[in-house]
Amino acid sequence: MTEATDRHSVLEAHAGECAECRNDAAALDRIGRLLQSSVVRVDVAALSQHTMTLLRPELSRRARSLLVRRVLTATLLALLPLPLVLIYDAYLLDAFYQIARLLLPAAIATYLVATYVAFLGLLFGGTYAAIPLLVARRATAAAASGE
Ligand SMILES: [Zn+2]
Repeated sequence: MTEATDRHSVLEAHAGECAECRNDAAALDRIGRLLQSSVVRVDVAALSQHTMTLLRPELSRRARSLLVRRVLTATLLALLPLPLVLIYDAYLLDAFYQIARLLLPAAIATYLVATYVAFLGLLFGGTYAAIPLLVARRATAAAASGE
């Protein structure tokens, strides 16, 4: 059923109930023609596209802000146990150095400890550098699945 016939049937139904309108059929016809001529055409697709064009900058700004907040939160949470890990590593490295110092010359023991410290630095750096990448990938996957 089209919108015009829908309006017409509503007018006919009203005329069936209302004696005043039933007696003045000409006025009812005029009202019907006026309603038919005043149909507003709305292009829903174009309206949606225009709205999305207007909203896109704000949506991307909010998405960036949310991503930054998530990355900061994840990084701060990951940094919480770091002091304990560093203290524990320092304790282990000191013990290792003391043992190596008994068996090897001091220069070689120092070299071994320094090499291990450099390796640990690389490991920690890689781990903490991966956090933003993992959070961004997870956020992208969540956005793609529509969460
Ligand atoms: Zn009436």
